[in-house]
Amino acid sequence: METKMLIGSSFEAGTETEETVLNPRTGETILKMPEANAGQIDRAVAAARQAFASWSRTTPGERSAKLLAIADAIEGNLEELARLEALNCGKPINEVRTAEVPAVADCFRYFAGAVRNMHAPAAGEYMEGHTSMIRRDPIGVVASIAPWNYPMMMMAWKLAPALAGGNTVVLKPSEQTPLTALKLAKIMADILPEGVVNVIVGQGASVGNTLINHPGVDMVSITGDIATGKKVLQAAANSVKRTHLELGGKAPVIIYDDADLVRVVEGLKAFGYYNAGQDCTAACRIYAGAKIYEKLVAELSQAAASIVYDNADDTLNEIPPLISQRQCDRVASFVQRAAEQPHIEVTTGGAVHQGAGFYYQPTVIAGALQHDEIVQREVFGPVVSVTRFTGDDDVIAWANDSQYGLASSVWTSDIGRAMDASSRLQYGCTWVNTHFMLVNEMPHGGLKQSGYGKDMSMYALEDYTAVRHVMIAH
Ligand code: NAD
Repeated sequence: METKMLIGSSFEAGTETEETVLNPRTGETILKMPEANAGQIDRAVAAARQAFASWSRTTPGERSAKLLAIADAIEGNLEELARLEALNCGKPINEVRTAEVPAVADCFRYFAGAVRNMHAPAAGEYMEGHTSMIRRDPIGVVASIAPWNYPMMMMAWKLAPALAGGNTVVLKPSEQTPLTALKLAKIMADILPEGVVNVIVGQGASVGNTLINHPGVDMVSITGDIATGKKVLQAAANSVKRTHLELGGKAPVIIYDDADLVRVVEGLKAFGYYNAGQDCTAACRIYAGAKIYEKLVAELSQAAASIVYDNADDTLNEIPPLISQRQCDRVASFVQRAAEQPHIEVTTGGAVHQGAGFYYQPTVIAGALQHDEIVQREVFGPVVSVTRFTGDDDVIAWANDSQYGLASSVWTSDIGRAMDASSRLQYGCTWVNTHFMLVNEMPHGGLKQSGYGKDMSMYALEDYTAVRHVMIAH
């Protein structure tokens, strides 16, 4: 297991406060990892600055070849990466092996292709006697700060477009989930020139805070909480750094009376509880038409109760535990406060799972009302609320009544209704008769307090490059 940070070409241990990295399935300590000291953070930024001079001058084809080599190496190390991610996050290893690692490799392959195909308006004489052309140039040193829910995938979403665009990176994984980041650092150090990627570990308040305020950093990309995004903005305001913010979500799921209920229940079981709901796009805020409401609540409750977790045979497990005791307590307190409301019924789950680890039972909260905390706030756990609407209610207004704006879905057999709803929802993504599906060719990113900037797709490459105009007088 790799335990050292990557700074330039050197692998080093931190020297500051030790973080205890836990196995969420058992609550046992995997290891203790000291965080980076101020000098190490400075050297990581300096290494990235130095590498920028040459990496930013490589051709798209050269960068593409490196990204393809990284993708191959990720596949070559699939088993170890899957094992580490499963250990550190408690994820069922089959999910990591068959869904997450392939998506990570595909992300590098997508950007390897995308960087050779960047578009701009045609060069031409937009003013007589002058030729104009557009360039898309690298920005500089990017500080990338990742969360704990998909450590490896978030690292890929940040690194691949940044590197493809010709930037260099200092990445800080979540202090709770550094294991795959350190393994990937080792893999990338064999492929990339010295200093192009640096990986340092430590807490947000210390190492993260130093990094986002560092004068040698040109852009900060963060996936995390709204509160953390605001800190990044405050830090960026001092030096006018570029920012790319992917902050939580509370996805509305509108189920009209004419939806295919079998498909809906199957979808909600999968997309409401995937990764134990620790997903910013989780299908967690259901609005159900009055005619199907009762049946939906009954069938969803049955489906949620059937989800397998904490089984000794990991191949049967469908969801992981929560990442920490703190997260488990947080989810429990949301459910407890909801259950105290007289109009709410917890139809399944609603308790911490007895036994080792940070498991919380898959939970359905029926009868929730629009103003309830459980409808308004991100729980980030295996908890789905159901709110009834009638034809007279403006369900789109309810769906949009949220500080978040990341993902949404509409379930109906009426294509016109689906199109109308999609056009009125204020979310970065609207799925129709599905939810949660992401592809590297299409963008992922939010509106409102879910942040701005896109991950994946050509739009991410645009975010990680600067548009420049060059004009030549004849
Ligand atoms: P978090 O904001 O606590 O931490 C995210 C990262 O930011 C960690 O690496 C952390 O160390 C760092 N950090 C914390 N405080 C910092 C500071 N002051 N300065 C610099 N860095 C700091 O979030 P989390 O608990 O790790 O992740 C869960 C949150 O992330 C949820 O709200 C979830 O919705 C969101 N999320 C969003 C997306 C998305 O694409 N929009 C994806 C995954 C997770």
